[in-house]
Amino acid sequence: MYDPRMAVIDVHAHFEPRMLDAAAMLAQMDARGIDQVALIPCMNDPLPETPERLLGVVRRLTRSPCHGLARVVADAFMTDDGDLRLSGKTYAIYPRPDNAAVAAVVAAHPGRFLGWIFLNPRAAIGVHELERWRHLPGFIGVKLHPHWHGWPVEDALPIATRCEELGLPILIHLGFARRGDWRVLADACPRLTMIFAHAGIPHYDRMWGSIRGDRRLFLDVSSPYLDEALVRDAVRAVGPERVLYGTDAPYGFHDADHVYDYGAIRGWVERLPIAAREIERVLGGNVERLLAR
Ligand SMILES: [Zn+2]
Repeated sequence: MYDPRMAVIDVHAHFEPRMLDAAAMLAQMDARGIDQVALIPCMNDPLPETPERLLGVVRRLTRSPCHGLARVVADAFMTDDGDLRLSGKTYAIYPRPDNAAVAAVVAAHPGRFLGWIFLNPRAAIGVHELERWRHLPGFIGVKLHPHWHGWPVEDALPIATRCEELGLPILIHLGFARRGDWRVLADACPRLTMIFAHAGIPHYDRMWGSIRGDRRLFLDVSSPYLDEALVRDAVRAVGPERVLYGTDAPYGFHDADHVYDYGAIRGWVERLPIAAREIERVLGGNVERLLAR
């Protein structure tokens, strides 16, 4: 395996001990040479694997001129109550993800796990929840999910303003229309660092050109929502210095024994047609620099 000299940091993983507990995660990290994983508090019931065929359809739709159809497909997976509906079963989305659970794991394994503070303006966990956790060593920034939590991006302005003051990055999973209007935050907070989850899903190519010149905006390459070709295109569009390794564990890639496969997305990064030192930066150097700001 490619052996980078810089630390390897997974910037986007979920703490979901019902699928992958901390001990199993550490075993995978050790086996695969992952130094640190930044955990997001769990926001939903354990999910079944999404069939690759469906993922392929959504990927193609999202990047095609008829990307409006991708929204129709995404809406079809949501109930009126804002939960997920997959293959006839309902999976709850939690309005108040458990930051305390991630705080405990980060405290138990300092140096291996980092944490994102999950906020949700719609459930009234905003700036005061940020103040509650931000002093804890290992918490590195704020996670927002306007797509599944169902709020227009502008509702996060108070959170973004505070993050900008504190120099904390926001990792955000964008949605469609007003739930995806990242410019509201970028324009109001000119010093705010943002990482767009899953390469800016569902905007991809339509966003990449406009963020290229803005050095505080990053993409992560996590999740089987993406594939190797899409990651290659994203890196070509925004440059390797603005792309961060992430996995979305424990969702997605599993090996034959149903154990989470930490090597899959890492392989996409290691095979990028860029210099070895740029690959090292995507795997960890970029996020180290971002967090040192
Ligand atoms: Zn995720």
